[in-house]
Amino acid sequence: MYFSDFSSEGAMNQERMTKISHFVNEDAIFPISTERSTINIMSNSKVRVRFAPSPTGFLHIGGLRTALYNHLFAQHKKGDFVLRIEDTDRVRTVEGGIENICQSLKETGVIPNEGIWIDEKGEIVERGTHGPYLQSKRQKRHHEYADELIRMGKAYPCFCTEERLQELRKKQQLEKQPTGYDGTCRNLEADEAKKRISNGVPHVIRLRFPEQGSVIIHDVIRGKVAFDWKEIDDQVIIKSDGMPTYHLAATCDDHDMEISHVLRGEEWLSSTPKHIFIYEAFNWELPIFVHLPLILNPDKSKLSKRQGDVGVNDYIEKGYLPEAIINFVALLGWNPKGDQEIYSHEELAELFDPAKINKAGGVFDTSKLNWMNNHYLRALSEDDYFKKVLPSFEGIDDDLAFLKRSALLVRDRLETTVEIKEVTAFLFRAGFDFQEIPLAWKDQDADSVKERLEAVREVLTNMEESNVLNIQIVENELKNLIEKNGWGNGDTLWPLRVALSGMKKSPGPFELVATYGKERALQRIDSAIKSL
Ligand code: GLU
Repeated sequence: MYFSDFSSEGAMNQERMTKISHFVNEDAIFPISTERSTINIMSNSKVRVRFAPSPTGFLHIGGLRTALYNHLFAQHKKGDFVLRIEDTDRVRTVEGGIENICQSLKETGVIPNEGIWIDEKGEIVERGTHGPYLQSKRQKRHHEYADELIRMGKAYPCFCTEERLQELRKKQQLEKQPTGYDGTCRNLEADEAKKRISNGVPHVIRLRFPEQGSVIIHDVIRGKVAFDWKEIDDQVIIKSDGMPTYHLAATCDDHDMEISHVLRGEEWLSSTPKHIFIYEAFNWELPIFVHLPLILNPDKSKLSKRQGDVGVNDYIEKGYLPEAIINFVALLGWNPKGDQEIYSHEELAELFDPAKINKAGGVFDTSKLNWMNNHYLRALSEDDYFKKVLPSFEGIDDDLAFLKRSALLVRDRLETTVEIKEVTAFLFRAGFDFQEIPLAWKDQDADSVKERLEAVREVLTNMEESNVLNIQIVENELKNLIEKNGWGNGDTLWPLRVALSGMKKSPGPFELVATYGKERALQRIDSAIKSL
């Protein structure tokens, strides 16, 4: 029940909130440790990061966190933050996906200074000198790189049919072997491959990974992570329809766009060896890798559909303020100071340090998000607050001054703006059922209730409207009345509060009088008296 703990102080006890513990990974010295000097990594260059979503759905909380961390890091390092859209998977691309990603980023203030963007008219535009930023427009370049890899012997055409690959897979599964390509076309004679290609035999292009040895990723959060090459099968970089795959496209684009740090979800960690292979084949400088841990449900399972999988736009529509969403998402796996929970976007940027991101996943705790949203709602000026909640009064046709007082009455407890209609509904109700919620305080009799309410009515009748709207004056007047008559607070204020709210638990009687104003308060009191 919304008002059930109305008497307690503060919106939410800080101690009840989940605290995210620190984890500083000693292995992950940031930037560049001396250990990394053995591999060719980007040094001395300007920080350039990118968020590279595929428009296969709307922007969700996990995606927003990746974008935000890139943004914070670029802001912290005075670098560039690029938005690249990876739209090479035409089948999975959803309509409106790019617009939704841009719009959600715009509304939460995670604004790239380069790449794809949405203009005032809602049109998708590109800005910057490293374009195009729509990956599908870079195919010519991807093909050039693929050809070069073939020339260097680092990639090869593969003519294995879909049927053969399916059979291979079945056989591997039956034999309880790891599934993957068996390298049949690796050693095909060059002339034979050329002949097949000129005869139009369908083929893909695969990377030729080493058959032994291992690759070590130096990840800022996880430290050194080793992968054995024998466990990685030769990946397709150009599909049979000529479309480049993610591994080739993302790696080449990151290089061409001079990306210095790759911050992306942990689910991409196992792809990184494949990317490193391409960097090394071309003798390119490696970016610094930061793989962000998963976001978890409170029970530590992977974030469920009902929570983080909900689009960022849904959270905005549900009445969460952008400041609260950003503050909350930033702390999903990172907390710069331990105890502090409230940070502005600017403070987050000032403090952001990828080396301090927790290795363990960040827990998505809705009650913490609600607490934060309440904090930001309370921090708004009265006018700004009212502007935010006014659309949620939709369908209630009343005067604006009363709507504003109603909104302010519940602000301290409000968690999302859309709740406003529900939690203020009693103020707009035609009448209350005093059989269900009795006006009497404990075993007070009807005559006594009537006497108190009539006296209150008289006091209010004699007050100026402007004084009735003032909580403090109302309180003084009514307390005088109680004192003068030697009545108890309970037997006067309880009937008054129930007369005004129709509820056992509600905001206090003085606030209610000042919210209603004289005329409405007197009407409520009259109908309560009539019911006796
Ligand atoms: N397009 C990939 C995605 O949808 C990008 C992964 C990466 O950042 O490299 O998340």
